[in-house]
Amino acid sequence: MTKTRTPSMLQVFNDHFDRAAGYLKAPADLLEYIRACHSLYSIKFPVRLRGKVQIFHAYRAEHSHHRTPTKGGIRFAPDVNLDEVAALAALMTLKCAIVNVPFGGAKGAIALDTRAYEVEELERITRRYTTELVRKNFIGPAVDVPAPDMGTGEREMAWIADTYIMLHPSELNSMACVTGKPVAQGGIHGRAEATGRGVQYALREFFRHPDLVKATGLSGDLSGKRIAVQGFGNVGSHFARLVQAEDGAVIISLSERDGTIYAPDGLDVNAVLQWRETTGSIQNFPDATTLSDPKAGLELDCDILVPAALQNQITAENAGRITAPLIAEAANGPTTSDADAILRAHGTVILPDIYANAGGVTVSYFEWVKNLYHMRFGLMEERIGIRTRRQMMTGIETVTERAFPPPIREEMLHGIDELALVNSGLEETMVEGFQEIVEIMQQNQTPDLRTAAFVCGLHRVVEAYQELGIWP
Ligand code: NAD
Repeated sequence: MTKTRTPSMLQVFNDHFDRAAGYLKAPADLLEYIRACHSLYSIKFPVRLRGKVQIFHAYRAEHSHHRTPTKGGIRFAPDVNLDEVAALAALMTLKCAIVNVPFGGAKGAIALDTRAYEVEELERITRRYTTELVRKNFIGPAVDVPAPDMGTGEREMAWIADTYIMLHPSELNSMACVTGKPVAQGGIHGRAEATGRGVQYALREFFRHPDLVKATGLSGDLSGKRIAVQGFGNVGSHFARLVQAEDGAVIISLSERDGTIYAPDGLDVNAVLQWRETTGSIQNFPDATTLSDPKAGLELDCDILVPAALQNQITAENAGRITAPLIAEAANGPTTSDADAILRAHGTVILPDIYANAGGVTVSYFEWVKNLYHMRFGLMEERIGIRTRRQMMTGIETVTERAFPPPIREEMLHGIDELALVNSGLEETMVEGFQEIVEIMQQNQTPDLRTAAFVCGLHRVVEAYQELGIWP
């Protein structure tokens, strides 16, 4: 029997693009222009490590300049290639368009296995990569603004910011050259968990649409839903922790690159985090069954499957064995287009990556604005807000002849902090994004949410190019 080849991420993107293009009224040449990646930078640079020169291969792709700066994460992964980075950048363009953040899409990567390097070595590699981006004008607050992705986090973003600022000492907005920074170094509260929280908000909104929920055979809300999560990194761990703690969902399995742990009655996510911290792995977590296959979790009996690790995990080979009626794509490109067709035929509902994991870029947008604003959110209106609220509350107390309990009075007087503000903006964005996708689905009779999301994103990009006056 011949084994079917897994399509590349770019091929998968093009397949989805073609399906959506049929629902759009736009000039064919404009659509082809939008499909293509506009700027690609492929670099090889040397770094002397442990007495020997090592050559690193790295990339940055700016998919679309209809809005600037371009925006997208930086991935450290051993087998990353130019096509993958270009496809991820294209997904970013549509993602930003769907949630209405004013960026074009981009993505960057260094081909390396982070486990093979010491922290100081990773720092030197990251700083060198940043210098290479500066040399070719592939980074800057108004040009291209990276963020974390697989294998990177706050630490790497702090190195990138510091390198950029050193090279641009008189640039006022230089802190806005990258997002996902530590809060103490120009970051924003809530960015670290934003992608996982965004997936949580996306699922909550899904359960507010009875027609869509009906198609899955599920009912109610996230409470008690049995969820399998693949990938226990930034996105997967925050997602699992939040839906367990705040929605009462039951995490029945967690998968990592070294295996899957499974407990039909639910895993205590915080205890698993603690276990991994102590032992270095999720394997052999007490009261759970350890399965050696990291893909085993995908096929378990559950209500919701959340792939939050790598691309191309659900393929034509295993799609037929997936029983979850609902999939929320927290990872980028976890489902190949041929697997997508199998799942659609089977009636599985998929919240597509270009919507479901848009929480990260949404809060990155808030961070970028905060950096450009040079003032903490709410400073100017704080005192006037307190005075107005105090007058209002005193008025209510006089009329009702009852005093507010002191903790409520205090909370109402002082308004909300940055984290609450960020989460409020994120929730609003995810809710609006979902509602627009559903509206497009109904208006255009698109058969599934992914096609509707592609139509939504592409429509916005088409409009932006038409506004620029280049296309009629
Ligand atoms: P991460 O590096 O923090 O975590 C990835 C996790 O996946 C790690 O724990 C790793 O051990 C695990 N993993 C690796 N190979 C695996 C395998 N074969 N099977 C199971 N698990 C495996 O990365 P992340 O930031 O959480 O990103 C995960 C996904 O989410 C990626 O597709 C990324 O592009 C996407 N994403 C991330 C963000 C973000 O803000 N970080 C935003 C949007 C989308």
